[in-house]
Amino acid sequence: MDPIKRPNRYREMADPQARPRYTGIPTFFRAPHTESLADVDIGVIGVPYDGGVTNRTGARHGPRAVRDQSSLLRRLHPHGIAPFDVARVRDLGDCWIEQPYELEGALAEIAVFYQTIVAARVTPLSVGGDHSISLPILRAVAAERPVGMIHIDAHCDTGDDYLGSRFHHGAPFRRATEEGLLDPQRVIQIGIRGTTNDPDMWGFSTRSGMRVLAMEEFHDRGWHYAAEEARRVAGGGPTYLSFDIDSLDPSQAPGTGTPEAGGITALEALRLLRVLRGIDFVGGDLVEVSPPFDVGTLTSFNGASILFEILCLLVEAWQKRVQVASRGR
Ligand code: MN
Ligand code: MN
Repeated sequence: MDPIKRPNRYREMADPQARPRYTGIPTFFRAPHTESLADVDIGVIGVPYDGGVTNRTGARHGPRAVRDQSSLLRRLHPHGIAPFDVARVRDLGDCWIEQPYELEGALAEIAVFYQTIVAARVTPLSVGGDHSISLPILRAVAAERPVGMIHIDAHCDTGDDYLGSRFHHGAPFRRATEEGLLDPQRVIQIGIRGTTNDPDMWGFSTRSGMRVLAMEEFHDRGWHYAAEEARRVAGGGPTYLSFDIDSLDPSQAPGTGTPEAGGITALEALRLLRVLRGIDFVGGDLVEVSPPFDVGTLTSFNGASILFEILCLLVEAWQKRVQVASRGR
């Protein structure tokens, strides 16, 4: 059957992303949904998996809530970036996990999905799900060479075995370093805080050479200093960006599994991300939004707003790579 044809009195009504934001099906940023990788530059992907959480669950509902809240965002960044005009940004739907109750198998399934994405030369922007999903994403994104990482989180996530599993959401970046996916000298972890049961909980980070920028240092020296440090540590090489929503203060992001008091404000996070332009970002994720613990839609809305900043960073990095490649030809 033909789609319903209707006359558009206003020109912008022809563009689904310019229609009133409360209308339509809420894909990520109201970008077109497709499961074909043929005409995609940046793929926004939901990973509704929270089998790696160690405490409060619910992050499997993150992608749907962030999709809904991301429909509140408009087409243009306040600094003039037009991500949807520069690159073909598509909502690629969700990463299917056929056996979600088998943790290591689920992570292997995610890795296979992302290998297909990377092989199609699509830059992935992912929405979790808990933080365990970053490991299989890195297995695809960093398969050819280790990458640097700007990691914003209340936790280093470089733990080890917990209750018999080495692959929970508190350990992905230790495993990624061991697997040769991360270059720890090019990793910075920003916003680290909170109580621990073990004084050496995050010892792997410092021993392996990661730059750990604790919340106290962030608070004393500010978002701009954190951004300068991120730029210095990441350098010019390929870099992944991983944003755990629990880095934000629980007053602005209550809907998450492992909240820690005294965090980054949404404004500081947006400003920090905005000055990271120019870094060669090869992928990014927003994780740990847990809608069942949210208050109103505070967490998923702040998460969607942060996701838009990451999208703009990925689009600009993608554009730069394309320009360099075409010059080399
Ligand atoms: Mn985390
Ligand atoms: Mn965390």
